[in-house]
Amino acid sequence: MQPIVAKFGGSSLADAKQFRKVAEIVRADPDRRFIVVSAPGKRSSGDTKVTDLLYRCCELASAGKDHTPVLEQIRGRFEEIIRELGIAFALDAELDVIDRHLRTAPERDYMASRGEYLNAKLFAACLGFSFYDAAEAVRFAPDGRFLADETNALLSAALSPLERAVIPGFYGADETGRVHTFSRGGSDVTGALVARAVSARLYENWTDVSGMLFTDPRIVPNPGVIDHITYRELRELSYMGASVLHEDAVFPVRRAGIPINIRNTNRPDDPGTMISHDLPPAAAQRPITGVAGRKGFSALQVEMSLMNNEIGFGARLLSILAAHGVPFEHCPTGIDTMSVVVDTAAFNACREAVLRQIELQLRPDHLSVEDGLAMIAVVGHGMGGQRGIAARVFSAVAEAGVNIRMIDQGSSELNIIIGVDEADYENAVRGICRALSDATESENDG
Ligand code: ASP
Repeated sequence: MQPIVAKFGGSSLADAKQFRKVAEIVRADPDRRFIVVSAPGKRSSGDTKVTDLLYRCCELASAGKDHTPVLEQIRGRFEEIIRELGIAFALDAELDVIDRHLRTAPERDYMASRGEYLNAKLFAACLGFSFYDAAEAVRFAPDGRFLADETNALLSAALSPLERAVIPGFYGADETGRVHTFSRGGSDVTGALVARAVSARLYENWTDVSGMLFTDPRIVPNPGVIDHITYRELRELSYMGASVLHEDAVFPVRRAGIPINIRNTNRPDDPGTMISHDLPPAAAQRPITGVAGRKGFSALQVEMSLMNNEIGFGARLLSILAAHGVPFEHCPTGIDTMSVVVDTAAFNACREAVLRQIELQLRPDHLSVEDGLAMIAVVGHGMGGQRGIAARVFSAVAEAGVNIRMIDQGSSELNIIIGVDEADYENAVRGICRALSDATESENDG
């Protein structure tokens, strides 16, 4: 039987009580053979993550200040887990190594990685599994670039002889053994790499929510969990701000066709969200999978008579943005007009220079910038085969008293993107969600 890789996040392993829950989950299915862990996270809302304490130690030591009180806080977190679980573990020796490192040449990535390293060692001892250090096989180039193929080869060779192992998330090392980390939340990425390397049949990502929500619960209360979603839908929603997984965690498993299951450590019976290439028939019928959005966009409006006849106009406009390192998000066009939607923060870094170059190189009849745009993505493969979804979405926005400033629908019919004023964003999302849930209910009734 192909194994299951289970990754547990920081809140899932924040203290001894959580360790017990996780151990029970792991033992409940003998296929859960490879376990990837984060560092202990927050135990309550006012608490501090161990990773943040480690960064703090490094900052203090690098500034020549005393790091010991913060290191003692970290000792306290691990000591409590060891004591309450009754594990034999040489914590003092481990912390001495970290302390020596801080006193000689503190390195940020090495320090940050120690939370995952210690937690994995502890959890391996708690379960009676092997500990396998990610620094041995998760490979980075000396400049910090992640090396995917090398990692996959090394990880599969290292893990295949192991029956069961716990692997720390978040970090790896270059050939010289120097530690490098992924960006924050990167244990999700390690979990995906391990899943690919051992050809897992499933990548379980255990966290503190019961899956991905239909929309932002700060805008629409109790939005409901998405039971199934495709990798592509997930990518669209995550890009627009719905966050449930580290962005880079999807690619390794998607390529290998391994489904991801988002699960809740505190409610292990909840089925969570399944992410895969295809949807089961019931989910495929559903027109919309989720709604997400973000504020902070600007639209560059360029007008030029006979633009359509001028070959290369669009390419030149986009290349000016590219030359200044500004990616474009959407690009709706008319016959003689073109709008390019960009992230305002990225655009602000070179606004004047970009506008000057457009004037100089393209000599448009009219050039303006509209700031303060919010973009809403209504996402679902199911809308492809169904009439009237767009009409329903646009009427909902109109009924919410919101003016639509821009519309973009990709040719794949996977999403409808709507631009509205930032001030109207929440109202528009609420209107769309209301209309879609009314529609689903009436379809079910009929
Ligand atoms: N511990 C790291 C962080 O806090 C990585 C992770 O939890 O995935 O970002």
